[in-house]
Amino acid sequence: MISEQIKKLHKELPAGVELIAVSKFHPVEDLREAYDAGQRIFGENHVQELVAKQPQMPSDVKWHLIGHLQTNKVKYIAPFVTMIQAVDSLKLLREIDKQAKKVGRVIPCLLELHVAQEESKFGFSPDELHAMLAEGEWKALTNVSICGIMTMASFTDDTAQVRREFQLARHTFEQTRKEFFSDSPSFCKLSMGMTHDYQIAIEEGATMVRVGTKIFGERQYK
Ligand SMILES: *Cc1c(COP(=O)(O)O)cnc(C)c1O
Repeated sequence: MISEQIKKLHKELPAGVELIAVSKFHPVEDLREAYDAGQRIFGENHVQELVAKQPQMPSDVKWHLIGHLQTNKVKYIAPFVTMIQAVDSLKLLREIDKQAKKVGRVIPCLLELHVAQEESKFGFSPDELHAMLAEGEWKALTNVSICGIMTMASFTDDTAQVRREFQLARHTFEQTRKEFFSDSPSFCKLSMGMTHDYQIAIEEGATMVRVGTKIFGERQYK
């Protein structure tokens, strides 16, 4: 049952670790059940699905876009999105800033760090992240607030590998905070861990976990 899973997770997660209920591909009725059990933060991967669900849910829901975001779609979510979690280029950050300005908001963002072994098109490597921040243009973007880092570990049963990747993310997070955000307390979020690895992520310092399957069951990809 969705409500039981939510309550169990709320009890299980240590103070200071936020639960993002990843509701992609699940119907609004399922989100409502999670909401009624006390869940307020929901994560969606696709702009179209997020935009369709948002008006059907209570207005105090906090919506996180956790999937890859194309620049031409930022405008659809800028008016209401609580956090954009997977910012993987300066170009995207600029566009979020531009669209946030238009609607008079400052949008919290996380920078996506690529630590997994799998080849992925998305996310900064630690070196790329450092180079982007060192270059400094981001400081002029007044309508985005860079709040931390999000990452995904390799999809593998090798828990030692997963743990090493989370440790690298934590290390990169701490270094980045020290070097670029020492005077911005809002840089404090480390989003890592999903259904199969959130416990390891918490042990390695996650402040946000993104859990879908454990709450809502298997997704039906239609
Ligand atoms: C789908 C998804 C999740 C949740 O995955 P589960 O294995 O269902 O918990 C978390 N993060 C991202 C980026 C996702 O796309």
